[in-house]
Amino acid sequence: MFEEIYSPVQKITFAPFNNLFVKRDDLIDPYISGNKWRKLKYILAKAKADHKTHLVTFGGAYSNHLVATAAAASRSGLTATAFVRGEEVKNEMLLLSSLFGMKLIFTNRESYRDKQQLFEQHFANDTLAYFVDEGGASEEATIGCAEIIGELTETYDHIFCAAGTGTTAAGLLKGIRQQGLNTQLHIIPVLKGGSFIKDEIEKYTPFSDQLKLHLDYHFGGYAKTTPELIGFIKTFTAQTGLLLDPVYTAKMFYAIIDLQKQGVINKDEKVLAIHTGGLMGLLGMKDKF
Ligand SMILES: *Cc1c(COP(=O)(O)O)cnc(C)c1O
Repeated sequence: MFEEIYSPVQKITFAPFNNLFVKRDDLIDPYISGNKWRKLKYILAKAKADHKTHLVTFGGAYSNHLVATAAAASRSGLTATAFVRGEEVKNEMLLLSSLFGMKLIFTNRESYRDKQQLFEQHFANDTLAYFVDEGGASEEATIGCAEIIGELTETYDHIFCAAGTGTTAAGLLKGIRQQGLNTQLHIIPVLKGGSFIKDEIEKYTPFSDQLKLHLDYHFGGYAKTTPELIGFIKTFTAQTGLLLDPVYTAKMFYAIIDLQKQGVINKDEKVLAIHTGGLMGLLGMKDKF
């Protein structure tokens, strides 16, 4: 399942930009979407190489990572279990995850903190179980994300990407270095207080000025929105035909447009936005529109 993908770079028309491009990782797969596909590619390869057949992972009740892991496991002939943070709930994302055969274990916030301990408590005797960190954070994930850069056939002045844990950002920075590019990488943390992303990136690759963190586009915090952000999604989608999710990609595109207004980027420069997918998340946010 990880052999062939469709993720073209498309030019989009959105004034005043003359050279705005999007890497359509959202088209890779509806369920193993965007950067989650990139992250899981080498995680699954490693699990298989270690002769593990049971993925055990972690996430919040609306996690794109859970749906992606569930879908990837079922397509690869593996089983999957997830520790889901918080009380038992039902929603669209968990429905999809269970349809793909994932077993869900709801876990209170206190116990959820120590993931390694949860894994050991439940699966110490399961020699086939493989620990996959929350969001897929790992060295393997950064290798998969670096391949996004390897696929580009043109160079760009600026590349933009949204960040939750920062693993994807680390992979992109690695990729930019591997290819010897001068491109400026702009990362938009979607959580409040996103400066921790710098430490996360440094676990995998040295930080440098080639990467700029823009900390002011969280709109109140993770999965928080404002009427302005929702209004922006509506305008942008109607004009470009590209869907955005309020948690990640909308905050990134909003930042691109705002940074152009501030003069940080020029409307004629070549800008590439990575569409990291996650559109299923829209299903759980319909009340916000
Ligand atoms: C998970 C996710 C991200 C964040 O990726 P990190 O590697 O955790 O920074 C960005 N965009 C979308 C759509 C996601 O689902």
